[in-house]
Amino acid sequence: MTQTTVTGSAVQPVNLFSFDRHGLGEYLQSLGEKPYRAKQVMQWLYARGVRDFDEMSDISKSLRAQFHEQCTTTLPTVSEEHLSTDGTCKWLFELHDGNRIETVYIPEKDRGTLCVSSQIGCALDCSFCATARQGFNRNLSVDEIIGQVWLANKLLSARPETRGQKVTNVVMMGMGEPLLNMSALVPSLSLMMDDLGYGLSKRRTTVSTSGVVPAMDRLTDAIDVSLAVSLHAPTNELRDQLVPINRKYPIAELMDACWRYVKEGSRKKSVLFEYVMLDGVNDNPAEARALAKLLRNFPGKVNLIPFNPFPSSGYQRSSRARVERFQSILSEQGVLTLTRTTRGDDIDAACGQLAGQVDDRSRRYVKFAEPRFGEQFR
Ligand code: SAH
Repeated sequence: MTQTTVTGSAVQPVNLFSFDRHGLGEYLQSLGEKPYRAKQVMQWLYARGVRDFDEMSDISKSLRAQFHEQCTTTLPTVSEEHLSTDGTCKWLFELHDGNRIETVYIPEKDRGTLCVSSQIGCALDCSFCATARQGFNRNLSVDEIIGQVWLANKLLSARPETRGQKVTNVVMMGMGEPLLNMSALVPSLSLMMDDLGYGLSKRRTTVSTSGVVPAMDRLTDAIDVSLAVSLHAPTNELRDQLVPINRKYPIAELMDACWRYVKEGSRKKSVLFEYVMLDGVNDNPAEARALAKLLRNFPGKVNLIPFNPFPSSGYQRSSRARVERFQSILSEQGVLTLTRTTRGDDIDAACGQLAGQVDDRSRRYVKFAEPRFGEQFR
């Protein structure tokens, strides 16, 4: 449990957004309160969107005084806001250490999906992803992850054009690899799905991974959410190049982990396989046939994502004809396939375009002076 921590002589305040319900109950108990007080505090923070202790009128004066002394409800600050012509909204949030992360809200007829970041930058170096080029700084904390949902709802309701819109779905598809930040991811998901948090169902809460196999099993054990897997290639030879973590956890191991996920628990589960369409690289009929073979008997769907370009990526988006050809081969083989429509690309808010502003600690720039496809997973 997180407590007020002492570093040097400065006492760090405890951020109330850093606890899920259980953790908050424990923390309040440590202050001499009954754990059920967590319910009241969460209602203020999440249902009512209130973070000023003085407004928490049903909380006793003495507890509020303790909050003032020991706690904060600090969240990232809005550094930029961009609204796309299609209604997609991208925010650049500044964190306490000056790094900036991106969060994207995508409105659709019957829902509002928030694409949430889990890390500052990313260490995985997927060859077609803009976030990878930023390098990696650190994991986000629970308050920084759940704060993106809190702020998105607040900002949507504050703007006349978007009033009435809110986050109904979360996809952990922003910057970073969520499964490399399990200790903050799990409590954050638990807050998103808690009735006293955002009450999102499992169906509406999706974690996307590039395939960190051991963490996939740990996620299944910890919490029941929807799973998306960034596959992008049907063979190890190709996937090793596009998604370098494949060198550590090759396709057969990844598919085994996917099977364990779908077989766990009573709920009928499936996996969404993401496949970015890179012209002439992974979009040939041969790859479509290999992909169909790999997924034919698997309870899942393929989501074909048009590649979103960014400067010096070296890749081109597949033509519509090539995407259709690819899709029809998969469909003929009985593999369910969707094509994702690109949203928000006029404001660089589309998949893989999120870059934020990362104080890179991974020395990625050194690697980019060398041949592509770093050696770290060999
Ligand atoms: N690290 C996790 C979460 C990021 S999700 C993962 O890899 O799943 C971001 C999704 O967008 C992934 O499927 C990713 O592969 C895809 N993506 C990345 N760069 C892209 C680009 N330039 N164009 C389209 N999709 C991209």
